[in-house]
Amino acid sequence: MPHGRIVPAVPCPAGPGASPYNGCVSAILNADLHCHSVVSDGTLTPEELAARARANGVELWALTDHDEIGGQQRAIAAAQAQGLPYLTGTEISITFAGQTVHIVGLGFDAEDERMKAGLRQTRGGREERAREMAASLAAVGIRGAFEGALKYAGNPELISRTHFARWLVETGVCRETNEVFRKYLTEGKPGFVPHRWATLRDAVTWITQSGGVAVIAHPARYSFTPTEEYALFSEFKAHGGTAVEVVTGSHTAAEYVKYADMAREFGLAASRGSDFHSPDESHTDLGALPYLPGELTPVWELLADRIHR
Ligand code: AMP
Ligand code: MN
Ligand code: MN
Ligand code: MN
Repeated sequence: MPHGRIVPAVPCPAGPGASPYNGCVSAILNADLHCHSVVSDGTLTPEELAARARANGVELWALTDHDEIGGQQRAIAAAQAQGLPYLTGTEISITFAGQTVHIVGLGFDAEDERMKAGLRQTRGGREERAREMAASLAAVGIRGAFEGALKYAGNPELISRTHFARWLVETGVCRETNEVFRKYLTEGKPGFVPHRWATLRDAVTWITQSGGVAVIAHPARYSFTPTEEYALFSEFKAHGGTAVEVVTGSHTAAEYVKYADMAREFGLAASRGSDFHSPDESHTDLGALPYLPGELTPVWELLADRIHR
């Protein structure tokens, strides 16, 4: 491995006052296992994120760019330079019951060829989708959106709605990116183009076959019926998925409780991550989250031997 090394976990010292993180497993850990760099739709580089995570007191970090692991070696090296324990990461777009769902992968081998090929295939549809989004915006009088959004995409293969949102703010169509998503780019609004991503089975398989753990990202963000949500959790488990994000920048305190219960009901480990994209846009900074609720298995307990130090 070019950077970092993976060392086995040390058993937790028992008793009160043991931990925070010193190589042992504990729920009381400032782990931030979900964020984005310029390699997808974040505005900071992997190096800037590593420094920000360290400064904010993060004790275990993962960079989870959308459908892309091209930033992983930089993140491993940057984390090591900061003395920050690191797990490899990505956030895979899938289609389930007609909606886009995100599956986070943690602790996989970033050199795995099947993972790389799967993600390359998933990214493949983005340019055509972006051109259709631009055509849809042109139909309501907003011209030049493809070229405009592309300027914001650090990685042209990963052109995303976020880059369109930044351009629509720059050109004064909207005041901020949240307003863009309210008025454009979402189902039923100009600029929205339905897209078919990977399947749940494929995403979970790419992650688990490369040694990682699959995590349902921000489950409260989807608009599933209870039956569809039950199906998502059941099928995810049946395919080999083992964790769910409970504490994320996308959830309210009530949703932490709801998904802590779901984690227990489905026997899933729990993850924690800000989903930080940008100092100017993100409400939740790296590491700025409550700890996981008690009595859950932290996802890092499943990944102790996958941590780069
Ligand atoms: P895409 O993968 O191109 O469909 O873009 C999805 C990305 O858009 C998400 O990962 C978020 O970064 C961003 N996004 C989606 N909905 C919103 C929203 N309501 N406000 C701000 N950003 C959003
Ligand atoms: Mn994003
Ligand atoms: Mn997401
Ligand atoms: Mn994300």
